[in-house]
Amino acid sequence: MSNQRRILIIGAHPDDCEFTAAGTAALWAQHGDKVCFVSVSNGDAGHHEMGGGRLAQRRHAEALAAAAVIGIEYVILDNHDGAILPSLEIRHQLIDLIRTYQPDLILSPRPNDYHPDHRYTAQLIQDAAYMVTVPNVRAGVPNLMYNPVIAYVSDTFQKPTPFAPDVVVAIDTTVDAKVAMLDCHVSQVYEWLPWNGSYLDQVPLNASERHTWLRTRLEQRLQRDAHSYRHKLIASYGVVRGATIRYAEAFEGCEYGSPLDAAAIARLFPFVSA
Ligand SMILES: [Zn+2]
Repeated sequence: MSNQRRILIIGAHPDDCEFTAAGTAALWAQHGDKVCFVSVSNGDAGHHEMGGGRLAQRRHAEALAAAAVIGIEYVILDNHDGAILPSLEIRHQLIDLIRTYQPDLILSPRPNDYHPDHRYTAQLIQDAAYMVTVPNVRAGVPNLMYNPVIAYVSDTFQKPTPFAPDVVVAIDTTVDAKVAMLDCHVSQVYEWLPWNGSYLDQVPLNASERHTWLRTRLEQRLQRDAHSYRHKLIASYGVVRGATIRYAEAFEGCEYGSPLDAAAIARLFPFVSA
């Protein structure tokens, strides 16, 4: 039996998984585990100057470049961006994908989020959970004999309940890889998001200057979970190391998967220990 873990990280858009879990993904990849990022939409609405098939193709190439940074797979489902609904059609796409990939762990957004595509992606994952074990659903793709562990990636939304992590992962050794992966999403981090946020005039034109600018801009976000969940880092990594960790990513178990209990955390996150 192989001890290799199989991790499926699902977001709504090409770049979502990078923002929430790339540092931890890089740790799994270094550990020899299998990681696959999934985007439920093709990203064809995420720009102010281009759209449709051309944008979807551009973002597909950006995603593959990001995946190559840490040597993982990247799957983009061909659903329109800005139009994700918790439909039976997309639920079936996810059931097939989860059954085929056979993940030990699925990472998901939480169902309360500013973006409808994020909300419905979370709903779709919960709708596919358990059903992946039912043989008469999507009978053409063999069912799983287990329900994978599902965990939420962190966010700052407070209602109806704030994010409450079960595991916090130090990513100081992989934060450079996370920034390098986000740097691949040129259409997003240097074009669409700055335009949408009214700071396009701040983006440097030169590739190395803009990489530094991106890192500086992300710094607060990259440090957020380490600051917020310091007590968890100290509990997991010990007082000395836990107190000095700068960057972290955090995950909270979802009740509709198998439980993210202490045994599951030890099995799935082998790099979280003193
Ligand atoms: Zn997104």
